[in-house]
Amino acid sequence: MFELYEVLKYYVYYKYILRFRGREQLERRQRKRLKKHLQYVSNHSKVYRGITKLEDCPVIDKTFMMENFSSLNTVGLQRKEAETFAMKAERERDFVPKLKGVTVGLSSGTSGQRGIFLVSDQERVRWAGYVLAKFLPAPVWKPCSIAFFMRADSNLYQSVGKGRICFHFFDIYKDMEKHWEQLEKVNPQVLVGQPSVLLAIARAKIRIHPKTVISVAEVLEREDEKQLKKAFQVDLIHQAYQCTEGFLASTCKYGTLHLNEDIVHIEPEYLDEKRFVPVVTDFERKAQPIIRYRLNDILVERKGLCKCKSPCRALKKIEGREDDMFYFPGKDGRQRGVFPDFIRRCVLFAENGSIVSDYRAVQEENGEITVYGDLTEKGKEQVKREFEKLAKDRDCILPEVHFEAYQCEPGKKMKRVERICLERNRQR
Ligand SMILES: [Zn+2]
Repeated sequence: MFELYEVLKYYVYYKYILRFRGREQLERRQRKRLKKHLQYVSNHSKVYRGITKLEDCPVIDKTFMMENFSSLNTVGLQRKEAETFAMKAERERDFVPKLKGVTVGLSSGTSGQRGIFLVSDQERVRWAGYVLAKFLPAPVWKPCSIAFFMRADSNLYQSVGKGRICFHFFDIYKDMEKHWEQLEKVNPQVLVGQPSVLLAIARAKIRIHPKTVISVAEVLEREDEKQLKKAFQVDLIHQAYQCTEGFLASTCKYGTLHLNEDIVHIEPEYLDEKRFVPVVTDFERKAQPIIRYRLNDILVERKGLCKCKSPCRALKKIEGREDDMFYFPGKDGRQRGVFPDFIRRCVLFAENGSIVSDYRAVQEENGEITVYGDLTEKGKEQVKREFEKLAKDRDCILPEVHFEAYQCEPGKKMKRVERICLERNRQR
């Protein structure tokens, strides 16, 4: 009961109380929160001992985080014990127990490295309150059912299932077809899942009428978004850009993706005039501080004020992982990075202007490109021509391009554009 009260408290706070008159006020609050947070962290984490300014903190990544796990967290957990505990939970698929009062989870990591994340009860209820405030279509005191398609259950998600909000968890590791009957019975008002799962539901033509559809975990491609809007007859597909490092962005009622700068501080590291990699500081996470954590996602900025007037920075989209940039050899011998978006465009409009709905483009370790998609011979030629044009424009030599039938492993995160790097996976 106490927990429910706490979730409600945060819900009301984020939905109705926390308001900003402009960017300046938002930044002022950020500075205040950061100062307070750093004070706490420098007193409790060995890694940050004595540091009081954000700019004095090192920019870290997943490798640093895992290597310094034991001295970084503030709850006195050793990496080995946390790992053993999380592995056991995963194996037994029992995510209820906690270790020293915190939820311990494993993050899959799209680039092969497994991470361990720690979340305290306090952080969990705050997170739940925030998520509800951002996405619930009606006030929290009205009954609402939510269907959540997830990789694995964990305490982190169960906390949304309290009181009048009924939460239904569907495990995406099970055969998807087994879920359809139950899903129809539930007929949720809110449907949450990764785009590949939402697409599978759309294609199965299940009789459900969600008011709100939320895409999580994978990059939502514009073409997939169009398909989903049509299938579920909704005006927009919400996006929650959330990873174990924090809940970083969410869509407003106009469909614009905004950084959640009311709970995280983001330093953009620009790659060109509009693309940047976010360096994240979460000023609420205490158990496992996330301070100047460099994600390897590429975000694309959207200029101008959104109709919702939010002072939080707007994004045009999440383009993909920095790791998934393709590399073409330049004529001068140097490798040139090609953004995932350019690769996507080569494949998307292959068939005479009609859109290829299921495809994946993979750059193999040897640099060659494989396009998985059910394309006609003419379509393949077209894709090849687009790639040649791209290479020519960038003064590069096009690697070999191969074609295969479409395939995607169920349960695994789907990436339309991916670069395989065995070396990277081995290191991690
Ligand atoms: Zn907006």
